[in-house]
Parts: sequence; C-alpha cells; structure tokens
Amino acid sequence: MPEIAEVRVVRDTLKKQILGRKIKKINVLYPKMIDGNINLLKGLTFKDIKTVGKWLIFDLDKFSLLSHLRMEGKYFYEDSKTPIEKHTHVVFSLDNGYDLRYNDTRKFGKMIICDTSDVYDLKEIKKLGLEPDNKDLNEAYLLEKLKNKNKCIKDLLLDQTIINGLGNIYANEVLFAAQISPFKKGKDITKNEAENIIKFSKEITDEAYKWGGSSIKSYTSSLGVIGSYQDFLKIHKKEGENCPSCNTIIERVKISGRSSYYCKNCQHL
Ligand SMILES: [Zn+2]
Repeated sequence: MPEIAEVRVVRDTLKKQILGRKIKKINVLYPKMIDGNINLLKGLTFKDIKTVGKWLIFDLDKFSLLSHLRMEGKYFYEDSKTPIEKHTHVVFSLDNGYDLRYNDTRKFGKMIICDTSDVYDLKEIKKLGLEPDNKDLNEAYLLEKLKNKNKCIKDLLLDQTIINGLGNIYANEVLFAAQISPFKKGKDITKNEAENIIKFSKEITDEAYKWGGSSIKSYTSSLGVIGSYQDFLKIHKKEGENCPSCNTIIERVKISGRSSYYCKNCQHL
C-alpha cells in the first residue's frame, strides 16, 4: 500500500506529466469507485496536484478530483494508442495524445469529485490527523490522542486521524526505531516515547520520500518509476533475520490482520 512518501512521489511524477493538460474525454470502466459526477471534469485543465496524507488532490479549473490509491491503485501516463489493460478503471484522454489511466487490480481505490473550495471540508479530509512533518505534531498532541486508548500502538499508528500518512511498512519501522513494542497500549505511551514516535515518523517518511518511496509488491509512482527505500528498511519483512541492533531473531505477528515485524529484545512493552 502506498504510504505518505509514495503518494508524494506519485504527485511529483504526475505533476511533470499532466500539469497544464486539458481533459478531452473521460472513459469510466468501473463507476463504483467514484463519488460525484466525474463528467464535470471534461474540458478542464489540470492546474495543480497536492496531497493530504495518502490522498492525491488534483485541482482543475474549479473542480477537484480526490483520489485514494488504497492497496494497489496506480496512475499511468500512456500514449492513447496503447491498448487498455484489464485492471484500468478510468481513462482521462488528454489534449496531447496521451491518457492518464487509473489502474487498480483490487478495486479498493476511491475517487471523489467536488468543488475545489470544498475539498478541506469533506468528511474524508476533515477527520484526518496531522502529517508527520507538520510542525503542530508534538508530544502534547500525540499524548492527548493516545490517552485512555486501550488499543495497541501499532493499530493507533495506522489510524489516520492521529498521525496522517503512515501505513503498515513505516509504522513497523517507526516502532522499531523508537524501540516500542507494537503491543504497547496507547494509554501507556510515555512522553519520551511519544517524542520518539514523532521524531522517527518524520525522519523515516522524509528519507523514504527522498529515495522515491519503497517498491514493495506493486507500488510504482507511474509506469516504470520505482523507488528504492525498501533497501533501507530495518525490520519490515525481515522475519527470521537477525535484528540489526542486537542480533535477536526478528518475529512476525498479525495485529488487526496486518503483519507486524518486531524485535522482542529491543522493543519494550
Ligand atoms: Zn533487537
């Protein structure tokens, strides 16, 4: 699943490819993933592309298209003559003979069309927490969000209303860097641990962004564009290998259906 770093890389890639291009035609092959009238975007020009957490926001003349890639969503910028693939669900034909195509093997992605002035009032955007690099993300904010929470910190780091943009890979990496057990309850997180979660959330997502994100499974920022941060991951998918800090064997456990990788020795309850 693309996380905040990967979504920002997708934004950068698409900005180079489609800014200033006008949509001539829209072909929707899987309408169920779209909220709102996508035909409002016909004839409009891509003016800007932004992100909020894992959401991509395409601003056109007066309407915006919000897009969440979820597990497997991808945008491809391709010559209009290229045959349309089986998992392509939306095709935006541009005014230069190219298409912006949305491809999603698992069909979990979502698109919303709304007035540009309404984007930040949408419930999907309004409820989100602070991004890792937001200056207002401090330990007072985080401790307030975690207090009274019986859920484990791994689940709480995936809750986008607390820190916005972390997914499974970076949540695992942040907890390893901060030396916190994924099972530790939210309400038991100390001030010092909250500080470390914030510090490493920022550091790890900044570094991942710098390297173009992690290419795990089917993430690519666009056709043929892949990141290399997966080479720097310390704990994610390292089950059975030695902990880079203490040599203890790294374990994998399922927490709320997601694989958590952790070192029993370094990460404390
Ligand atoms: Zn260790």
